[in-house]
Amino acid sequence: MSTIRNIECKCPFCSKEFVETIQGSYTTFGLCLDSMPHGAAIVPNPIARCPECGFTEGNFFKEEDDKLLKEYLKEKKVNLNEPPYYSLAKEYEFLNKEDTLIAETYLKAFWESLNNYGYKDYDEKCIETLQKLAIDRMDKIKHTNHKYLKFQFIKLDLIRRLGEFDKGLSLIDEIKSIDILGLANLDDYSNEAKNDLKPSKSVIQEEINESSKYYQEKLNELLKIQEELIKNKDKDIHTLKKDLGETLFSHDGRGMFFL
Ligand SMILES: [Zn+2]
Repeated sequence: MSTIRNIECKCPFCSKEFVETIQGSYTTFGLCLDSMPHGAAIVPNPIARCPECGFTEGNFFKEEDDKLLKEYLKEKKVNLNEPPYYSLAKEYEFLNKEDTLIAETYLKAFWESLNNYGYKDYDEKCIETLQKLAIDRMDKIKHTNHKYLKFQFIKLDLIRRLGEFDKGLSLIDEIKSIDILGLANLDDYSNEAKNDLKPSKSVIQEEINESSKYYQEKLNELLKIQEELIKNKDKDIHTLKKDLGETLFSHDGRGMFFL
């Protein structure tokens, strides 16, 4: 179940007042192979966008971004028919935010167009363009990033769904050659782990060492699913078994730390 309500917003940049629909509580049943949640919910979670200047609200703006954003909104004419997450991804890109954040926001713009919630009808061409943009942004994520592997798996699913099966098979080979324990050194981790709720790097390192075999098995399981789908030239969306999804892609649990 999903609770929708309208809230009154005021744009911090042009002072326009407008009403935006937001989602309160919602239920999801699990994740798809590209980590998209499925269930009785609007996916992705709707975000507010000013109908006057196009400013799109995100969670990762800092005070010092304001000046640049103001200039950006003045210069760029935001197309209000584009998915809001696409507008947000371009804001993040302009502000030079982390590659993983930009990639994830493009991914959500793709989901938004796919699920066509409350916005203009997106045609297939538009959906495919967003899908390819998300892949391009995932390509920019560095090997040393602790979320690198997670995004390789998501990319693999997007590539398969585009019907690029040979490319998918090469990516599977590439993923197989990645040293998971090597990734676990988490070079980038300390930059991102500013939230006290996240376990410390050493705790994660220890857990990874202890459970690397378990995760390797889960990773292999996921690669096998993709290999099978590619063999059958399957371009459809598929859901993940709950435990596998939680292990690999959990957005609020530990899953993501291992990938
Ligand atoms: Zn505005």
